Amino acid sequence: MFDVGSTLEITRRADAAGEVDSTPVLQTRMIDAGGGSGPGITPDALATVRERLASTPDPHTDAERIDLVRALEDLKNTASAVQARVTVAFAESQEAAQAARRRDVDELGKPGPKSIAAQIALARRESPHRGQRLVGLARGLTQMPHTSAALAAGVLTEHRASVLVTETNHLTAEDRAVVDSRIAGDLDDLDGLGTRALVSKARQIAYELDPEAAVDRTRRAEGERCVTLRPAPDTMAYLTALLPVAQGVSAYAALVRAADQQRVTGDPRSRGQVMADTLVARLTGRESADATPVEINLLLTDATMLSTSEEPAQLGGHGPIPAPLARRLISTAATQAEAWLRRVYADPETGQLVTMESRRRAFTKTQAEFLGLRDRTCRTPYCDAPIRHVDHVTAHAADGSTSLTNGQGLCEACNHAKRARGWRHTALPDGSVNLTTPTGHRHRSRAPAPPGSA
Ligand SMILES: [Zn+2]
Repeated sequence: MFDVGSTLEITRRADAAGEVDSTPVLQTRMIDAGGGSGPGITPDALATVRERLASTPDPHTDAERIDLVRALEDLKNTASAVQARVTVAFAESQEAAQAARRRDVDELGKPGPKSIAAQIALARRESPHRGQRLVGLARGLTQMPHTSAALAAGVLTEHRASVLVTETNHLTAEDRAVVDSRIAGDLDDLDGLGTRALVSKARQIAYELDPEAAVDRTRRAEGERCVTLRPAPDTMAYLTALLPVAQGVSAYAALVRAADQQRVTGDPRSRGQVMADTLVARLTGRESADATPVEINLLLTDATMLSTSEEPAQLGGHGPIPAPLARRLISTAATQAEAWLRRVYADPETGQLVTMESRRRAFTKTQAEFLGLRDRTCRTPYCDAPIRHVDHVTAHAADGSTSLTNGQGLCEACNHAKRARGWRHTALPDGSVNLTTPTGHRHRSRAPAPPGSA
């Protein structure tokens, strides 16, 4: 082993007979796990360490370079372990404060787990959805001391530790501890294991320990079946269905069969192409994939539409697309009399989309559509989730106006998190929103620049 720099090390208790106790004991030199009496490290001190780290000179030999790469990898994992521990302490402290004032519950009538996850997410520059997973990982690790120790020792990455937590989260604490010690009890065994191997090993032990729980888990997982869309490179998109295994296999087999039949007739398209075209045709109920109507929101400048500008257009639910593709979509749709063109005006001075004011409590359909086009995705920093709620930045009850400057698109989770105690959103004249979390940390959310504003 090389020397990591002695920030953290794992030792094992040996009993009188020299037998190694399997319980790992974390000994930290820089970070104190206890009540703050030992040496610790503050965010300011860490900033100094980072500065020194960033200016580390290139080592003299390749062997030293590899040593440094490995040491830095270990450091990231150790940092993840500390983040997990601090996350649990934060969650427990927030929950204790919430329990102390029982009337403070979020809209759903439960203490605000979303508020906790949202704060962790902002601190880690992650989406609120990912924040929830990270809080879950941190809590799971408290039941898995060996896995935690392996993470702290740098042997496991955060991703692999989270895989172990996920694969055991349906088990009782006792069974979970068994998986933990059998997989991560010996760091040498763990070293060199790939993620897939780790998953198989964890599943195998979990199935053995509690086959019934595994079946229940399958049933619950089936409840999470869904279809999602996300952008792929080169203006393509991934349409993904999460299905019970039998349905997934049979749907795929149906596409393979269709492709095979088609290819027998001499169709020049590749098998993959026929499968993709068949999928689209069957889902949309159209004869062919090309006839798909433009039931999509396209945001573009007049100049782009008239070919005098090549500024990319914005496709709702996807992101930017090249100008020629936008024009092609419009002309295809126009020949089938199914083009829906929405005119959105930009302020010639600022390029910001022009606002419309209303005295009503609820946003009009036009305003809501406008906000959807302007914000594109949830306005919370790092959250890429689709917009589900058009929200008053300052609540209507607190005299917030029903105007586009006081409006923002939020996803469901963020809309609920916002209502938890201690969160404050403030709209600024330039259309950005200041977001203050319960701990007083501030974040700025800017609406994306519309086409024509560059
Ligand atoms: Zn969101």
